[in-house]
Amino acid sequence: MNSKTVNIIGAGPAGLVAAINLAKNDYKVTVHEMKKNVGMRFNGDFQGIDNWSTEEDAQEFLESIGVSINFRFAPYTNGDFFDALAERYKIKTSRPLFYLVERGTNEWSLDQGLKRQALEAGVHIKWNSRLTKVPDGQVIIGTGPKAADAIAKGIVFETTHENYYAGFLDDDMAPQAYAYLLVNEGRATFATCLFKSFSNAEECFERALKRLHETADIDINNPKEFGGYVNFFFNKALTKDNRIYYVGENAGFQDALWGFGMRYAMHSGYLAAQSIIEGSSYPDLCKTHIQPKMEIGLINRWMFTRLGNKGYKKVLKIVSEKEDLIPIMVKRHIHYGIGNRILLPFVKLWFRPRLKDKQCMHKNCSCLWCKHGKHDMLEAGIDC
Ligand SMILES: Cc1cc2nc3c(=O)[nH]c(=O)nc-3n(C[C@H](O)[C@H](O)[C@H](O)COP(=O)(O)OP(=O)(O)OC[C@H]3O[C@@H](n4cnc5c(N)ncnc54)[C@H](O)[C@@H]3O)c2cc1C
Repeated sequence: MNSKTVNIIGAGPAGLVAAINLAKNDYKVTVHEMKKNVGMRFNGDFQGIDNWSTEEDAQEFLESIGVSINFRFAPYTNGDFFDALAERYKIKTSRPLFYLVERGTNEWSLDQGLKRQALEAGVHIKWNSRLTKVPDGQVIIGTGPKAADAIAKGIVFETTHENYYAGFLDDDMAPQAYAYLLVNEGRATFATCLFKSFSNAEECFERALKRLHETADIDINNPKEFGGYVNFFFNKALTKDNRIYYVGENAGFQDALWGFGMRYAMHSGYLAAQSIIEGSSYPDLCKTHIQPKMEIGLINRWMFTRLGNKGYKKVLKIVSEKEDLIPIMVKRHIHYGIGNRILLPFVKLWFRPRLKDKQCMHKNCSCLWCKHGKHDMLEAGIDC
């Protein structure tokens, strides 16, 4: 096999960013995608590319990893946060807090944008190609999550409301997580996320929807339900046999605090491509560029689980009094201080990933996904 041939399994953001960068460097790239299109794990729902985890703006970050903006990419600066008593807090930021993107099969989704960039770069995508065996030669595996550490349940809908975002912190409707509303150009996403009590997802969503109506004057037209899950863990083996590279959520790369995994996915895809192009070590690149952020994210998660509704209220009050939240958030996400170093070993002991012993921990449980027979995470388990 030509040494400049790479097979990539999974056409998510991680696999596609790897493909784009390799093809631009004259590699012959084939992406195997088990579905008939990209983005089929998603439902036209809006997500946010965070702009608080690096000093550089997320737009510069995307450029630095070879991604052009050919998809819906809307800056969001002003919005509201609500505590468990429905009290409103305004957050002030000197740059967008996040960039809204769409996920799924619609033309301007992130997924379709990356697909267009990959095809333009000369990548060959094989649809409905679900390999049961890892091919020979260099292979990048980016098949997404393998188990659910957090789940989301929500609706996408049409609305006449202006562009807007809101975040809700209340353990009764989003246990150890948050609910969110994102409105863009007449369409909206409203969902609640749960880091525990998955079997209560329906009730949590109903409570969250009630809170939305109490706090925002928004019309909901033509709602469609959606759900999803994210997975994070510390993967010791990021490569196998010097030829197989694990990227994105398949490698456990996710933001443990909030589930903002898109940047991790795309960054790891880029690093895998760089390691192949330059002959450098992928685990070393991840150790430098991804692992410290993952560790800080885990510490932040541990702290967050200790707050409860009273703690969320205090934090919201403090942050709403700041003139600019961005430098504080950036520091919290990249500064590896002595406190974090001391905490990390204990937090790692506390953390129980749901992916254990190569088994999906969801098996036979009564959560929403199992009840509806949605065991996609098992399908995603090539060579896991
Ligand atoms: C409801 C929800 C909301 C989210 N919100 C945000 C947010 O606001 N901000 C953020 O940053 N992140 C968010 N995330 C997380 C983010 O979507 C993921 O971290 C990101 O999509 C992971 O990218 P990936 O490429 O690793 O995997 P995926 O996007 O899951 O892509 C994997 C691809 O591999 C394919 N595949 C799987 N198995 C096989 C196989 N055996 N053979 C061939 N193909 C296969 C799948 O069909 C899929 O196309 C959210 C996730 C969910 C579920």
